[in-house]
Amino acid sequence: SEEKALNFIEEIVENDLNSGKYETLVTRFPPEPNGYLHIGHAKAICLNFGLTQKYGGYTNLRFDDTNPVTEKTEYVNSQQEDIKWLGFNWKNELYASDYFDELYSFAVKLIEKGLAYVDESSADEIAALKGTPTEPGQDSPYRNRSVEENLNLFTKMKAGEFADGAYILRAKIDMASTNMLMRDPIIYRIKHAEHHRTGNKWCIYPMYDFAHGQSDSIENITHSICTLEYVSHRELYDWFIEKLEIFPSKQYEFARLNLTSTVMSKRKLLQLVNENLVTGWDDPRMPTISGLRRRGFTPKSIREFCERIGIAKRENLIELSLLEFCIREDLNKTANRVMAVLDPIKLIITNYEKGTEDLIGENNPEAEDGGGTRIIPFSNELWIEREDFMEVPAKKWFRLAPGAMVRLKFAYIVKCENFVKDENGNVTEIHCSYIPESKSGNDTSGINVKGTIHWVSAQHAKTAEIRLYDRLFTSETPDAEEGDFKDYLNPESLTIIPNAFIEPALADADLESRYQFIRKGYFCLDRDSTDDKLVFNRTVTLKDTFKK
Ligand code: ATP
Ligand code: MG
Ligand code: MG
Repeated sequence: SEEKALNFIEEIVENDLNSGKYETLVTRFPPEPNGYLHIGHAKAICLNFGLTQKYGGYTNLRFDDTNPVTEKTEYVNSQQEDIKWLGFNWKNELYASDYFDELYSFAVKLIEKGLAYVDESSADEIAALKGTPTEPGQDSPYRNRSVEENLNLFTKMKAGEFADGAYILRAKIDMASTNMLMRDPIIYRIKHAEHHRTGNKWCIYPMYDFAHGQSDSIENITHSICTLEYVSHRELYDWFIEKLEIFPSKQYEFARLNLTSTVMSKRKLLQLVNENLVTGWDDPRMPTISGLRRRGFTPKSIREFCERIGIAKRENLIELSLLEFCIREDLNKTANRVMAVLDPIKLIITNYEKGTEDLIGENNPEAEDGGGTRIIPFSNELWIEREDFMEVPAKKWFRLAPGAMVRLKFAYIVKCENFVKDENGNVTEIHCSYIPESKSGNDTSGINVKGTIHWVSAQHAKTAEIRLYDRLFTSETPDAEEGDFKDYLNPESLTIIPNAFIEPALADADLESRYQFIRKGYFCLDRDSTDDKLVFNRTVTLKDTFKK
């Protein structure tokens, strides 16, 4: 592959390794198991795992599971599956909840150093004393409790003697700091809730800021990479590490992925699932990794997308069409070309007396190995697309029309001799003659036609349900619109074609197969398929046809 400029994090890592600051690079991917992973997470996964693939060392998978209420084992499992599917392997599978004992002792250590105190003010009282970004806050009346009193209260908090919210533990830093997060942040809260791993062992849980950096430090993470929202947390991250005198992990921030016409917070995606606005986390319209997988995206295309968007320090908005470009590029080289008719109309060849014959179709002229061939049955009754016939042809119309000629892909040239309409004026049959000498690969007819159309032999065709997808939202930036983001859902994001006709070779499709339905786009089998009913998803159209 061609030489690429280093991104700013790679520069930092190279410097740190060259200067001998660290011997081994250690990164982590730290998802909270409160939902399925999405394409934004894929960016962070490719970054963290990509660094240790490139520079050696290793990457941990750490579940950031310090909030008992929203976390579930189902999410832990799906997140692991998605990371593996993307093609990455972690060194250690770890859980922040495994550090609860250690985090507790860190809190005790801060209390003993006079750097943390138990506060019993209400949330409103705490907020009232917090100050504003331009005005300093004021000390809590409980700020100067003795170490003994703090230790005693914190032990009682842990023992379950108090109700939720009655007491909190705060770091004692600086109520006048210009960084609001440094104004005595809460580090432990009481929550009588069952945790997905520790059960009812704990009724106090550390806040994100008290868990994340310490977990990094416990694991000797050298470069703790997170998104820009955490810039202001870095001061606190460093403060805890310094005061606790533990391994100095360093935090670096990069711009999160924002993508047009979708939303990317697990909380919002969960709403879509819970309100049945999509069929589940892996609905092919979802920006989740499992949704993209079901839609037919390949791991390679997602990794390529993450490579192309790069790593920056400033927020931006990436076009969904770039993701589609990446999957087209991949599938163009790997997907077999097959024929499927989505909106069928009958074509009858009046002078074809052979009954049927087997034709040879090239699977993929773009494939690196040549792609091979397959057998396609032909007969005198075919299905073609309704849109490939015009009773009164437009200018430059090269497809079927009364008296016009067209090539049937992999087969013969036909000429439209006649057509039949029903009582409503809809065309129901097209009658053609064929040119026997015009067989593809062996054409001696000397006739040149400009149009080629696809078809399926009626007596050999299988039927399938085809699902076509469009953008999930009508707005490019549903998050930024007025009102609820769900008001901007695209009512036409899914079109179901219940009975399309597909060539018989497709009966062998499995969930890993990828196809180009000639002229219709790239498709894959959906897991809803049964022995009696095949279901195909359109991954993407052949060209960027999205209307803006
Ligand atoms: P969400 O709002 O989807 O819950 P989150 O940041 O709270 O996002 P986490 O599970 O905590 O979700 O994320 C795990 C990692 O993935 C974090 O390091 C976070 O920085 C990264 N990440 C999450 N969303 C994005 C995104 N859109 N672009 C890049 N990285 C992301
Ligand atoms: Mg998070
Ligand atoms: Mg979140």
